[in-house]
Amino acid sequence: MSFYNMLGKIALVTGGGSGIGRACCEVLAREGARVVVADINLQTTQETVSLLPGSQQHMAVGVDVSDKGSVEAAFKSFHKNYGEPPSLLVNSAGIAPMSPFTDTSEEEWMKVIDVNLKGTFLMTQSFTKMLLDGGGEVQGSIVNVSSILAKSGLPSLEPYTASKGGVISLTKSCAASLIRKGIRVNCVLPGMITTPMIQPLNEVYQKKVMKIIPQGRAGHPHEVAEAIAFLLSDRSSYMVGSCIEVTGGYMM
Ligand code: NAP
Repeated sequence: MSFYNMLGKIALVTGGGSGIGRACCEVLAREGARVVVADINLQTTQETVSLLPGSQQHMAVGVDVSDKGSVEAAFKSFHKNYGEPPSLLVNSAGIAPMSPFTDTSEEEWMKVIDVNLKGTFLMTQSFTKMLLDGGGEVQGSIVNVSSILAKSGLPSLEPYTASKGGVISLTKSCAASLIRKGIRVNCVLPGMITTPMIQPLNEVYQKKVMKIIPQGRAGHPHEVAEAIAFLLSDRSSYMVGSCIEVTGGYMM
């Protein structure tokens, strides 16, 4: 069943090879969008494409979002494929390595900031330039994936939580810059979602967190993807720079 009618639109999803990004690809394909699945791991992007209805109209692209050359090459390759720019973008690629604050090296800090924050900037900038360069009436929508931990913080995740706080600020600044050019920018703040990202957390820790989530369970990636699809769609046409929490009530 289609709720958002994205028929024929081109949607680019980073981190599309796994977790929340893959769930977004599935929901957007359900809505009729042609999906460009982008991830650092080309094999997982191809797996995602094979899961989508009408898989021949979707496309897998290997991209390192933290590398400007790689981002530009990815935009060129799908422009060549579709002959038009995407009008929808989801920035879901991310990493969350844990390390005690006093042991965190400068390299570890920079890696997380580069992927989570700079990656969101590079993708958003290339997307915007390509959309605006196309001329004509622009109707674009971007959703960034931050985290509820941007608000709460968490020991041993300082680079991650700082990067996600940056994603919220970047969302709001870009939202203000781009709305009069025809591009809406919003973000989601997921709580604990069952994806490979939370696998390193041991069971005892996960159970502890479940106890403080009012809904009493972790979320499913599709529960985040539905909120993202809403924000991308025309149904949220008056939402600009907003941050939707998808957390089962955690930290509300
Ligand atoms: P995930 O399953 O690990 O998906 C993240 C994807 O991003 C992976 O496929 C990963 O590839 C890819 N990636 C990593 N570095 C990249 C790079 N430089 N360029 C392109 N792709 C890259 O995790 P997830 O839970 O779906 O996370 C998606 C987003 O949600 C992230 O931004 C995360 O911070 C956010 N989030 C997740 C949770 C949660 O509880 N799961 C909560 C709040 C926010 P590799 O696997 O090869 O590294």
